[in-house]
Amino acid sequence: HAPLDIEAIRRDFPILAQQVNGKPLVYLDNGASAQKPQAVLDAMDRYYREQHSNVHRGAHTLGDRATSAFEGAREAVRGFLNAASTREIVWTRGTTEAINLVANGLTGRLSKGDEILISHMEHHANIVPWQMLAERTGASLKVIPVTQSGELDLDSFQSLLSEQTKVLSITHVSNVLGTVNPVAELIAQAKAKGAITVVDGAQAVPHYQPDVQALGCDFYAFSAHKMFGPTGIGVLYGREAVLDTLPPYQYGGEMIERVTFEKTTWNTLPYKFEAGTPAIAEAVGLGAAIGYLNSLDRKALEAAENRLLALANGLVDSVPGMAVIGTAANKVPVMSFKIDGLHPSDIGTLLDQQGIAIRTGHHCAMPLMDFYGVPGTARASFAFYNTEEEVEQLFAALRKIQRLFV
Ligand code: PMP
Repeated sequence: HAPLDIEAIRRDFPILAQQVNGKPLVYLDNGASAQKPQAVLDAMDRYYREQHSNVHRGAHTLGDRATSAFEGAREAVRGFLNAASTREIVWTRGTTEAINLVANGLTGRLSKGDEILISHMEHHANIVPWQMLAERTGASLKVIPVTQSGELDLDSFQSLLSEQTKVLSITHVSNVLGTVNPVAELIAQAKAKGAITVVDGAQAVPHYQPDVQALGCDFYAFSAHKMFGPTGIGVLYGREAVLDTLPPYQYGGEMIERVTFEKTTWNTLPYKFEAGTPAIAEAVGLGAAIGYLNSLDRKALEAAENRLLALANGLVDSVPGMAVIGTAANKVPVMSFKIDGLHPSDIGTLLDQQGIAIRTGHHCAMPLMDFYGVPGTARASFAFYNTEEEVEQLFAALRKIQRLFV
């Protein structure tokens, strides 16, 4: 790998080189969705120009090209996650659909007295499907508390975990706090109690390459758009022995083996979970995003991201009344914050006038907002293509806003 050249990396992301509101764009909303490198744009363009047809239909050359591009992307995902087989890689629309697929599939398996364990720092996508599963089955939802610094309360986890725990579904990385949870440890303990383990990897994959076999989880969900791939596609990894026991999620073409009016049988993994024509170009785009990430030195990227976070942490005191929410020792470069006397949405609007994009609001984590007693936060989330200069611009703008409006 060549030494890290952030300016060269930035040139791979054409959207970054623009002015917004008369100022150079400073894109610090990567946690909501990351930008796309040229390699992804090219792969999708080439797919539509040269390869497109429906997949798995055989019979003609374009169909074969489309199928091999599509299945090649599945293999890229398998490699990215270190899954044992492509049978374990199911395409979904994203993290949300992946978690819904699992929660729906467990409907027949839970009943009154069973427990589903999640945490207080989950995104709504990893709360509501479980809440609905509990409602359908009579099972109850248990919640691992978080500490003030934004870490899971591991003592409480120990006491909440029991033989009644049928499912542990936990986020790898918090989208609000940036906390990296010790998921391997939690999974090992939950498995010892016989629970099915699910990891919400949406915020982990932009920063790390998870190894699902090392983690030992049964399911791992993520979205392509947060890891520099297209919208509209995501992945459910399912350990084959467990995935195969789930019933189909949707019904129609592709997912069947044989259909008669009397009875239908299901296709093999992973197709059993992929009803209808899939998001083919998007799969190809995700494959290209993985190829792009593989071409970079991810350890060096991680180090660069950590430098951005350290720089940001060091500048917090330069803004009067600013406080960070989420100060875990092990966190990705995500900074949720509040500033005395300013509403988060005003911070967002005023920064946008300076060309700086952040996210404000509840971040689809209302229970966590309630825990911290805030209506929402402002959140700057960094990617490897962000620069130290951009971090400094953010803080200069925050100081100015604080001076003028408080
Ligand atoms: N979980 C977490 C931790 C997230 O940050 C997000 C996206 N904000 C999701 C789940 C949902 O992802 P998607 O909207 O792509 O399905």
